[in-house]
Amino acid sequence: MDKFALDQLFALQDVDAGLWERSHRLSILEESSGARAATDDVKSLQLDLKSMNSRMAILVATRDELDGRSRDLMAKVKNIKAKEMSGAISHRDFATTEAEISHLETQRSELEDAEFEVMSEIEQIEFQIQEVEQKLLVRDAELSELKAANANVRAVIKNEIADLEEKRSQLTGVIDGSLLKIYDGIRLRVGSMTLARIENGNCQGCRLKLSSVEIESVKRVLAAEFSRPPTCEQCGRMLYI
Ligand SMILES: [Zn+2]
Repeated sequence: MDKFALDQLFALQDVDAGLWERSHRLSILEESSGARAATDDVKSLQLDLKSMNSRMAILVATRDELDGRSRDLMAKVKNIKAKEMSGAISHRDFATTEAEISHLETQRSELEDAEFEVMSEIEQIEFQIQEVEQKLLVRDAELSELKAANANVRAVIKNEIADLEEKRSQLTGVIDGSLLKIYDGIRLRVGSMTLARIENGNCQGCRLKLSSVEIESVKRVLAAEFSRPPTCEQCGRMLYI
């Protein structure tokens, strides 16, 4: 292998960096676009709505029950009053039935107070439900838009990835096999920048200062055919000058 092979390796490194950058963008797209937050909001609003609706069902059932009991009492009072009017109740018992009516009316008034409280809560919850439904509508629409936009972004990125992968396979087709192995080995370890240029006497991978003897040695190796490329003794990256 020779210096030209390392030039091709730089091209490969660019392609790999491009691939990494795109797959990273794909992996954080939900987060970065705000779609994840919108999904969370929609879920939480749906939960709120669910619990409000169950509370509403309980309140409506309570109101109906109180209403039923109040009607029963009203019917009883009406009955007793009808008896009084018909003269079926003796003068002696009149005080007792009047007391009973008064007792029933008190009970009914208590039930009506309770019903009134329940109805106020129903009104409040109706209002809250409307608010949450409105928020949900807006957030859900935003989520749909984000999903559609993300689908487009994903399609574009996937196309770019396909192009880069094609470029990669063209490059790996012409790059020396053993050099590729060295490249992959270093990449596995350092993640990015497998080849480091020497600039101002420093390895650009780890900033190690190379002595002029070391730099001369790298130049000498690169000037001819070599079986292993020169590497940085600190970070292990291939060196290029
Ligand atoms: Zn280094």
